Amino acid sequence: VSYRVGSGFDSHLFSEDPARPLVLGGVVVAETGGLSGHSDADVVAHAVADAMLGAAGLGTIGEMFPDSDPLWSGADSVGLLERVRDAVAGAGWRLVNADCSVALERPVIAGLRPAMEKRLGAAAGGPVSVKPKRPEGAAAGAGGVSCWAAVLLEPDEP
Ligand SMILES: [Zn+2]
Repeated sequence: VSYRVGSGFDSHLFSEDPARPLVLGGVVVAETGGLSGHSDADVVAHAVADAMLGAAGLGTIGEMFPDSDPLWSGADSVGLLERVRDAVAGAGWRLVNADCSVALERPVIAGLRPAMEKRLGAAAGGPVSVKPKRPEGAAAGAGGVSCWAAVLLEPDEP
């Protein structure tokens, strides 16, 4: 059996718009203090999606969902992840597992891990682990949220 590994990275700055919710891993973490971006700016969903596309050799999330396409404005990124799962399945692959590290100084999201993992796992089609990490003031967490994801795909055989 052959496997394919993929890695994904995404980061978004905090938005100036106080009315924007903070959405991470498909979960509304806070009603305010969200990230700026074309969609809901869910860095965790974006990183997992990019890793799955990379592993399947299907390009990038930016190519599949261009910023220029109004269809994706304010989009629920878990819906984008479902579309990525379908594209990956169409290429003959399915998720073995995904593992994510999320760098953010605030707010504390540890209590929301189970909800994020459940929502992401259902969308991605396999187990997804989410590990919050305080970057202790290092650049990766300054002024926004960053996420790194690793995925493994296996052939989608009946
Ligand atoms: Zn993004």
